[in-house]
Amino acid sequence: MHAMVLKKLKTPLDWTELPDRDPGPGEIRVQVLACGVCRTDLHVVDGELPDPKLPIIPGHEIVGRIDALGVGVKQLKLGERVGIPWLGHTDGTCPYCRMQRENLCDHPLFTGFTRDGGYATAVIADARFAFPLGEVGSDISIAPLLCAGLIGWRSLVIAGDARKIGFYGFGAAAHILAQVARWQERSVYAFTRPGDSRTQEFAKSLGAVWAGGSDTAPPEPLDAAIIFAPAGALVPAALKAVRKGGRVVCAGIHMSDVPSFPYRSLWEERELLSVANLTRQDGLDFLKLAPQVHIQVTTTRYALTEANRALDDLRAGRFEGAAVLTPNAVLTQK
Ligand SMILES: [Zn+2]
Ligand SMILES: [Zn+2]
Repeated sequence: MHAMVLKKLKTPLDWTELPDRDPGPGEIRVQVLACGVCRTDLHVVDGELPDPKLPIIPGHEIVGRIDALGVGVKQLKLGERVGIPWLGHTDGTCPYCRMQRENLCDHPLFTGFTRDGGYATAVIADARFAFPLGEVGSDISIAPLLCAGLIGWRSLVIAGDARKIGFYGFGAAAHILAQVARWQERSVYAFTRPGDSRTQEFAKSLGAVWAGGSDTAPPEPLDAAIIFAPAGALVPAALKAVRKGGRVVCAGIHMSDVPSFPYRSLWEERELLSVANLTRQDGLDFLKLAPQVHIQVTTTRYALTEANRALDDLRAGRFEGAAVLTPNAVLTQK
């Protein structure tokens, strides 16, 4: 197999040939068809998350086909198309697992961070954490649903019954969730980098009722806001944008420091909380809902060997929607 490997933090990924591995008990081997590029991959490469496995193969929005089954795997079949998300393993026994909050497990493994991920031609996964995908929908358009869609979905659920909802940062997650929110008859207010009129137009094309810079106030107070961008300065801004009793949800795994702000912004029962990881139930719920919403995923496709360029383009905000790596493109090119 081949993979784009992070050998040292803050350095480019290396195109590397690795020995093929057989799946262990309870595991599957999956030939990767497509792997989305998530902002979390940038945080991994930049060393912003604690205790990565190194070397590591990033990538946790994986669509692929099973080509080997480990001992004891009964629920999945050879040749089946599956999705592999960020949550790659839990212990099943810690207090959080036992209270149905496996997203907070004390001993988890995360795909593309503490176990090898999908910037590769093949990946080994824990079968219990792979989602059967069926055959409807293209590999490339499904890949971004597996994190941007899924963690965005968890954030939207946690935002509660908000009719007017703000999205700070209109990238891969928000462009998917805007469509879900609109389908649920909510009004979406999109906040982008100040002056980014291209992304504001993109948000409106997906049904946002208003789009503007994150330094501007919405035309009316919001019921809730979700912050997708990794900028702590957005926290006080979002708190100011929500009404009394409104809720602000931080959806990212990493954020720059939150600047101090007057208590007045939190007063009147405004709530501030974060979303961590996902549960398998989130995945099952969202993957069932996605076809009903007819989500149109905007993707920019890169060959697997172009992963460094894809990460640079994500960092610089050079594309709308989501970047997706495709190993097959490179294999047929070479
Ligand atoms: Zn646990
Ligand atoms: Zn992700």
